Amino acid sequence: CGIIGFLGNDALANILDGLELLEYRGYDSAGLAIRRENEGESEVYKCQGRVSDLRGIVPTEGADFSCGIGHTRWATHGGVCDKNAHPHRSGKVTLVHNGIIENYADLREEYELEDKLATETDTEVVAALIDKLYDGDPKKTIKRVIKKIKGTFAFVIMFDDKPDTIYAVRNVSPIVATTTDDATVLSSDPAALFKYSKEYFVLDERIILTANRDGISLEDFDGNPVEPNYTKVDWDV
Ligand code: GLU
Repeated sequence: CGIIGFLGNDALANILDGLELLEYRGYDSAGLAIRRENEGESEVYKCQGRVSDLRGIVPTEGADFSCGIGHTRWATHGGVCDKNAHPHRSGKVTLVHNGIIENYADLREEYELEDKLATETDTEVVAALIDKLYDGDPKKTIKRVIKKIKGTFAFVIMFDDKPDTIYAVRNVSPIVATTTDDATVLSSDPAALFKYSKEYFVLDERIILTANRDGISLEDFDGNPVEPNYTKVDWDV
């Protein structure tokens, strides 16, 4: 699938444009969650179909959205339908996922998540587990949950009580990112970043990325800060 995370002005339009560039990675469903500056709950819009279908259901007056995440799906677990499209929300947690959670059925049982689930996807189990274990510290909770997961993933996550902040973590599935004076952008593919910058970095596996108005910071699972390793493309894009 294709994933976008965006912080900056005109988030809705930027996420939709980014998703269109990633549509080759998955195109059975599309969705996004967006937030207004400094506000709590994100608004989720998602549907079976293409990004062009998603454009038909999002707010048309949305220039003041400042932050959001988007997804184009290639279903692996759970049929192709509106409700199984990403983002998935559980309580305070909203996330998108690229990959496959192999032990989702075990996690569902072990943590008694059934009542929190509305879909058949492997992804929603992770949203529900993060929400269940969330204690106000997103990075700590994400680390705890990632240690329990078997499978491949790129997650981009928002918490309702952390406005203007996006978190990301991955294993196998890709995430690249860049930050400029105007915007911070996460993507599955650098192709969606070149509109903003010719410099980007690959998020290493098992590093927690935090993006907010100050840019991007990285930290390993022991809490040590990590510096991003930027690549500069020198051809015209
Ligand atoms: N396994 C997830 C699902 O089926 C994510 C698939 C994807 O990467 O698009 O919803």
